[in-house]
Amino acid sequence: METTGMRWWRVGWVGMGLLSLAAIAHAQVPIPAIPAREVQVNRLLDAYWLAGRIVQLLLPLVLLCSGYGARLCRGLSAWVRGSRFLTEGLFGSAYVLLGALVSLPIDYGRHYLLPKSLGWLGDETRGQWLAGQLLGLLPWLVAAMLLLWVPYALMRRSPRRWWLWATLAVIPVTVFFLIVQPLWIKPLSAQYEPLADGSLRASIDALAARCGLVHVPVVVGGNDTAVYGLGPTARIFLQQDLASTETPGQIRFTVAHELKHYVLADNWKLLPIIALLALAGFWLTYRIGGHATRRLHRRFGFARMDDPASLPLLVLCMTVLWLAVTPAFLAYNRYIEREADRFGLELSHENEAAARLFASWAGEGTDWVQPDRFALAFFYTHPSIAERMRMANDYHPWLEGKPLRYAGSCER
Ligand SMILES: [Zn+2]
Repeated sequence: METTGMRWWRVGWVGMGLLSLAAIAHAQVPIPAIPAREVQVNRLLDAYWLAGRIVQLLLPLVLLCSGYGARLCRGLSAWVRGSRFLTEGLFGSAYVLLGALVSLPIDYGRHYLLPKSLGWLGDETRGQWLAGQLLGLLPWLVAAMLLLWVPYALMRRSPRRWWLWATLAVIPVTVFFLIVQPLWIKPLSAQYEPLADGSLRASIDALAARCGLVHVPVVVGGNDTAVYGLGPTARIFLQQDLASTETPGQIRFTVAHELKHYVLADNWKLLPIIALLALAGFWLTYRIGGHATRRLHRRFGFARMDDPASLPLLVLCMTVLWLAVTPAFLAYNRYIEREADRFGLELSHENEAAARLFASWAGEGTDWVQPDRFALAFFYTHPSIAERMRMANDYHPWLEGKPLRYAGSCER
């Protein structure tokens, strides 16, 4: 006969057995404590971000209110003998250069001194960093020379509806940019080679085949892992040192995460967002910019929005709008990334490898366990390490017989 004590003892053993089985199926990787340095560096990053935005707002304000912007524009116009196209392009280019120059001290601190002091930049010299910054200006200068005449031509032709036509013009330009980004823009900053690692190629092909894809273009180089391009130019970019910094299981998860961006064409989702932002920005410029120009034309040095000298006003309206929508845009971006993690886990089942990968970033100090709310709202594109680890630890519906979110995209 079994006593009550013996019964409880047996129940206890069965319970412990079940618990340890669950532990074997999914070891929970402990979320690291927030390092003291993280809090300090996070505050520093907040300050750099704030300083950068203040400069971004002050530059057009000063150019407008002092009349220096209009004077510079008139000077350039005289230099090119009144050519509208060249005046608009050159004034736009001058604005890009001026913006880079006044932001240089902040950019140097934020993107060179700070990462250098944290050991993130390797042996990159100041000269190399500066050369990279100059190279980064190139697409902006080309865009200013080639595109800025468009909104001004539309303002002259259709003073009341130009904001609508300008938005329609932004769409093909954005599509073109997203298409050529992996071919022409990315190679400006690093060398990319087609993936040569045979076993990595085979592991990517095996994952992609389950999503019905025969060959996913993959290139290796640079220091970020992401999907760039649209349609036929879409490809997965793997960072140069991926094979040496991640275990095979982690690479499987990383690739499965990127496959979500590729399979569900996340880059296309940028298009309606950019179109909506352009519409709101141009309309605000038309309403508020037009009103300010009528009232303050003596101070500004120009009386009409279709005067190329109005560029700082256009930039100011766009910058204010962008700052106002940044938290919503980033929240959406973090949602896209959270879902890419979910997709990656559903496809690879590499929960523990993924959790250890996120934990390793905290150990190296290259990412934050839990950024403060300000950072999260204004410049954090991915969920925090703590949030990503919680999902990697706890999300495994296939073990519980529950339906998968992305069952329709790839076979599991
Ligand atoms: Zn991603």
